[in-house]
Amino acid sequence: MINTISEYFKFYYPKIEGLLFGANDIAPPINQALQNLPSVEPNNLPLSLEPREVVIIGSGPASYTAAIYAARANLHPLVYEGSISENSLPGGQLMTTTRVENFPGFPDGIDGPTLVENMRTQAINSGAAMLQETVVEADLGQYPFVIQGEKTHQKALAVIVATGASANRIKIPGAQELWQKGVSACAVCDGSLPLFRNHHLFVIGGGDSAMEEALYLAKFASKVSIVHRRDRLRASQAMQKAVFANPKIEIIWDSVMSRINGKNTVESVVIENSKTKKETTYEAAGVFFAVGHTPNTAFLHGQLALDANGVIQTKPGSTETSIPYVYAAGDVQDNVYRQAITAASSGCQAALQAARALELSQQNKVAS
Ligand code: NAP
Repeated sequence: MINTISEYFKFYYPKIEGLLFGANDIAPPINQALQNLPSVEPNNLPLSLEPREVVIIGSGPASYTAAIYAARANLHPLVYEGSISENSLPGGQLMTTTRVENFPGFPDGIDGPTLVENMRTQAINSGAAMLQETVVEADLGQYPFVIQGEKTHQKALAVIVATGASANRIKIPGAQELWQKGVSACAVCDGSLPLFRNHHLFVIGGGDSAMEEALYLAKFASKVSIVHRRDRLRASQAMQKAVFANPKIEIIWDSVMSRINGKNTVESVVIENSKTKKETTYEAAGVFFAVGHTPNTAFLHGQLALDANGVIQTKPGSTETSIPYVYAAGDVQDNVYRQAITAASSGCQAALQAARALELSQQNKVAS
């Protein structure tokens, strides 16, 4: 019986690793594995009505780094990591990232889920408490703040929001009907399914995620076509180089997918060249969206100011939000860098800022 994310990692991770590197054909795709999980119960945390110094919402490099720093500052952080479900996998975007080669400290690279698990273990070893529960609401209008999870609630003197961002979908005729029947937003989760093997697959997007998805799918597919709306990729040079060097991958430039066809699964796609307006139909077994991400802020119901891109607005050079004692870290507040290392950095900053603010408030109380 698997009750915690940690047990989940231990049980499934070796199989996922086999899947990522093609060593083990029997590994279940992540989504399939998750369907077999029982619902996750909160662990035996001493939840109390007394406010905690710091509650961290979300999981991933920003959250776990904030937890490490807050724990070491003796702030007894509680992390609402999010619950495991078919649609959400705590740990953030690194959970669906194959090889991470740009996180310092790993000269040969490290795969995303291992990096996440290491950070989480380090946070626990530092003294952070983890709760495998999704926050459904946060009342930031009263102080102490009240954080409402699916099953528990907790008061907090400071809150760090590190909920990251979720993969976008785009509206294409046929996409909704064939969602999860060949249409997906996560190659690492679904790409190894038999229906995709040795078939022509399509990835939409021109960023690092699209390159990553294409490279991953090329291990299983007969051919991968990246459909990009412009004549230039947004992806980093390193990722572009890897894609250009892969003989199974082609790029269809200046084009959009105008339709996805199929009865029970994807059978063909129609691609329109934006310049010539010429439409071409290709046989296809799968379509993978890699068209950016949207910050996960819905549970805040507009209580924090957002910028024009929908990320939480923070003061320049700071993780302070529009509400004192509420901090934001990682992709939920970053529309520029969006790297694991910058997320970790802002998590550190948020914890240090929270620690200083709480200490100052304590000193003021004593003085008055
Ligand atoms: P991104 O960089 O924002 O790229 C999104 C891509 O989707 C862009 O090429 C964009 O086209 C395209 N797009 C957006 N809306 C579209 C639409 N409606 N129709 C067609 N195409 C559309 O997002 P990302 O690739 O998810 O990357 C996010 C961040 O994570 C980046 O900072 C990236 O460096 C990082 N990342 C890094 C790695 C790695 O280093 N291994 C892997 C994954 C992600 P335009 O270019 O025309 O705008």
